[in-house]
Amino acid sequence: MDPEVMLNLMVELAGLEEELVDVRSTLAHHTRRDRHLRELQTEYEDDAARTEAQGRDMAVTLRGAEGRIREIEATLARKRDQVIGITDRRQYKALQTEITALETELDHLETQAIELMDDVGDKDLQTDQAKGDRDAQVDRGSKEIVRMDEETVRARAAEQEIVSEIERLTGLLPDRIARHVIRLRSQYPQAVVRVQAGACGGCFSVFPAQQGLDAQQGKALVQCPACARFVVHKSWQ
Ligand SMILES: [Zn+2]
Repeated sequence: MDPEVMLNLMVELAGLEEELVDVRSTLAHHTRRDRHLRELQTEYEDDAARTEAQGRDMAVTLRGAEGRIREIEATLARKRDQVIGITDRRQYKALQTEITALETELDHLETQAIELMDDVGDKDLQTDQAKGDRDAQVDRGSKEIVRMDEETVRARAAEQEIVSEIERLTGLLPDRIARHVIRLRSQYPQAVVRVQAGACGGCFSVFPAQQGLDAQQGKALVQCPACARFVVHKSWQ
């Protein structure tokens, strides 16, 4: 094979491998972003559900307190009626003590019920807020997921196209070189890299001056002595 033709093939391969790396990094990014968005959505859903459950628990506690208040009020009314008819001093005192204790408990429960009512109100607001946040996130996330899915379809198509073009061009190379390129590709994302300021664009080893120039000027096919990758100049077109 004419060395110049082969060099041009290698330059083209380097460009295609770069495109492939880009496309695959886009696909990997989409996969990560998609997972992140779904996790975020679950967090918002959990948050809304948790806040709502806390509100329900508080409402149950409040209803319990209200029930107990009604019981005490009924008992108190009965005891206050009994007090009127009592003539025995000791019985009277005992009943008064009971009434005082019930009044204290009632006081305490009423304070607790008022606090609980406030808490339930706060929780309701928090629940509304959490549900609103959740819905907004679902809306935002779904839109982004749809857009990414469309891009992913395009990127997958591009990936296939690039892969088959790489295979086609690799098939045109002399057998020995082609085998080496395929082996390198199993090791690195790119078998053919660019020369960068006299160094290998893959492992950044600096070349002997002449080799660096050869690669830079496209005079000869250079292989990096350190990583064995082929090193070519930037595309000229
Ligand atoms: Zn190298």
